[in-house]
Formats: sequence, structure tokens, C-alpha cells
Amino acid sequence: MGKQPHVLVVPYPAQGHVMPLMKMSQRLADAGVKVTFVNTEFIHAQIMAAASTEKCEEKSGSGIHLVSVPDGLEPGDYKKDPLKLMETIPRVMPCHLEDLIRKMQQSVEDHDHITCIIADITVWWALEMAEKLGIKRAAFWPAAVGVLTLILHIPKLVEAGIINSNGTPTRNEMIQLSPSMPTKSTAEFLWNFPHDPIIQKFIFAETFMANQAIKVSNWVFSNSFYDLDPYISDLIPNLIPIGPLLESNCPGQPAGSFWQEDLTCLSWLDKQPRCSVIYVAFGSTTIFNQHQFDELALGLELVGRPFLWVVRSNLIDGSTIVYPNGFRDRIAHHGEMVKWAPQQKVLAHPSIACFLTHCGWNSTMDGLCMGVPFICWPYFTDQFHNRSCICDVWNVGLGLNPDEDGTISRHEIQNKVEKLLCDEGIRLNSLRLKETARKCVSEGGSSWKNFEGFIEQIKC
Ligand code: UDP
Repeated sequence: MGKQPHVLVVPYPAQGHVMPLMKMSQRLADAGVKVTFVNTEFIHAQIMAAASTEKCEEKSGSGIHLVSVPDGLEPGDYKKDPLKLMETIPRVMPCHLEDLIRKMQQSVEDHDHITCIIADITVWWALEMAEKLGIKRAAFWPAAVGVLTLILHIPKLVEAGIINSNGTPTRNEMIQLSPSMPTKSTAEFLWNFPHDPIIQKFIFAETFMANQAIKVSNWVFSNSFYDLDPYISDLIPNLIPIGPLLESNCPGQPAGSFWQEDLTCLSWLDKQPRCSVIYVAFGSTTIFNQHQFDELALGLELVGRPFLWVVRSNLIDGSTIVYPNGFRDRIAHHGEMVKWAPQQKVLAHPSIACFLTHCGWNSTMDGLCMGVPFICWPYFTDQFHNRSCICDVWNVGLGLNPDEDGTISRHEIQNKVEKLLCDEGIRLNSLRLKETARKCVSEGGSSWKNFEGFIEQIKC
């Protein structure tokens, strides 16, 4: 037997990027691979605070070693200007990461030497660094494959005059990159930031670097599966789907949550009738204004069914959470609010009827794997693409439409939830897709084989 492989994992510092790479790391650790997981100092502290001590010690017996490097921000900057992080990361993190890698490679202990670096495509510079240092590297794409396809088509979009060299669409139109992909409005390109052309230019340039990340990598993985994206092999021939990534059942593995999971909601779910509960969660970054928050609360009340609602402490723009007058008393018998839920476990619970979601890719995969139909309420970036896949391609959900002033009204929420729960076609499609997803990750399935193949290659 060869020596134990050691993989260094570098996510982008955001919840939707850390979590899937943590799940990938759990699988590697379960297969006997040593994993060093590199967060920024800020995120590392948040994960450690959120995890119970016995579950996530820095040097746990789980095989996953959590370490951190500076990201160039002061603690107060995170709230003041979240976009500043995008600028400091590629400027500040690389030299700290390189120091860390060099120390490991120079260690007298053989098992410290890094066999392979797995990095989120958005931290493309870590993959370039691995190439420079002569270390094998795997790029990981944490969002929909259709979105990566769009990014890889940027040169063609510029050439065709659909966008200019800063990524700004020259006109509002619908485009389709492949017959099996949903049509896409140029107004919904993920790098669009019309209010600030300088930020847009920066985001666009960073997004474009995905091309470079793929070019320098030995493997390119996605949290997806072949049946979900039948066009994968035609459009991105070297992409290797390994999803849906599921959390490990092994105790002691770090989960990568930025907030402490409130497990009491699971016993609350145990008391609800089968297929009755609306699960409502908007990931880690969605923010509502007070008016929209009130409409959502009143919409859930109007539906009159049990609901479990994740209300993060920062869900309302700049203020503390205030519910509409009397709301909490009126829903006390059938509504439950938590600050952060164990989402995969919640969605797997038999009491869940549907998932009202912002359509983040990880949440989309969570819902698909559990066969739960969606009510879609995208907020920004790739979430509009994911909504189109859910509603128009896979037919496993319905979208919410805003009224003239841009608000999703309580009546729209009530109508769509009622419509969804009566839709037998959507229910059956969701169950079919769940079966397919399960087959892909079960022993012998396509994603399972892809992952096993990778483990074998790094063990050689
Ligand atoms: N999540 C969770 N508990 C919650 C809400 C979300 O564990 O109460 C997890 C969810 O399972 C997913 C991640 O947080 O892995 C959110 O990622 P997603 O891509 O859906 O959205 P983002 O936060 O990036 O907008």
C-alpha cells in the first residue's frame, strides 16, 4: 500500500462554497485520505464557534484538519462592505497560502506533504499556485453547470456583440447556449452589477478567470450529476460530476456551518403530519426589506399550513428581526422559526411538503436529493438560472412573480403554495429526480464511480 494521500482544500469564503467542499472532504476522509481544509481566519472562527467542541476540534480525529489564513479584512469590514472581500482575497490570501504549502512540503514528516490541492474555481489563483509548485490540482465548481457553461462562453458572447468587454449586455434579449439548456435573459447574467460599473468590471474579470482555473487543473469537478445536465459532456468535456454531495453520517466530522444548527426543529417536525410542512429558507446571504419580510410572514400565515422558517439574525436589511403585529401569537400552534436549520435533515423529514427557497445551488441540490418540490424566489446571481432549471427544465417547482412595485405579495405566496401542493405532475417529477440522484451517488452510480476514480488516482 502507498503512503496516505494528503489533500489541501481551499474554498471561497462563503457558506455556499465552504459547505459542498466540506462534504467532499468528508467523503475523502471517510476513504482514508488526510484533508487540510483552509478557511480565512474570519470564517474559521465562525465555523469553530458554530460547531460543538466535541464535533469540530481543530485537530479532530475525523481526518479533516481545519486551518486558517488572513484575508486582508478587519473584523468590522465584513458588515460594512462585503464586496471588499472580493478585492482583498486575490491580493492578500495567495502569499499566506503559499507560505502554508511550502511549510508542509518542507516538513520532515512525510505525511504532511501535499498530494493534491482541491480549490473552488473562484479561487483560481490557488490552482495556478499548485501548478507552479508542481502539485496535482483539482478545480471544484460549486454552482450549476449551466452557469459554468455561460462563463466559458464569455469570449463567444463578446465576439457576437451580446456583451461588451466589461460584461455589460449590449441589449436586453433572451439567449440559449444549447438546446437542452433553459433560455437566459442577458439582464440576469451573474456578473451584472448595473449600479456600479467598477464593481461589475471587477466581478466580470474574476468570473472570467474560471477559464484559467480549468486550463491549469488536472481534474474539474461539479456538484451535479449527468442526468441533471445531459449536455455536460458536449459543452464541457472534461467536467466530472460527483454530486449530489451529501453530508456524512460519520460522527465527529466538521459540517462547515457558519451558524449553529438548531436541532430542536427536528423534534418539532416529528409532531407534524406527513407531507404537511412548508420549509422556508433563503441560504446565507439573501436580505429582505421590512415590507417584503412582512408580506412573507403574512403569506405563510394565509396558507394556514404548518411551516418551518429559517430567520437568520441578518435576514432584514440592517435591522433586527421584527414580525408583523400579533404574527407570532397567531401562528404559535403551527409555525416554527429557527435561526439556522440542519437543512439536509429537515428536507429529508417525512413531514416536509415543499421548499420555499432562494434557489442557491446547494439548496437546490438539497431539495432535489430529498424529492421535495420547490417554490422559487431567486434573489441574485446564479439563482435565476437555477429557478429556470427547476421550473422550466426539470419541472419540479413553481416560481413566485413580483407585483408592479417589485414585491412578492402574501397572496402570490398563498396561491403558488396551494397550486404546487395540488400538482401531481410536479410531485412525481420530484420523486423521479430523487431516485435518479440517489442512484448516481450509490455504489456503482455515475457520480460514485467518478469520485472513486479520483480517490484511486490520488492514492497512486
Ligand atoms: N443551510 C443550512 N441551514 C439553513 C440554511 C441553509 O445548513 O438553515 C445550508 C444549505 O444546506 C446549503 C447552504 O447552507 O448547503 C446554502 O447554500 P446555497 O448555495 O443554497 O445558498 P447561499 O447561502 O450560497 O446563498
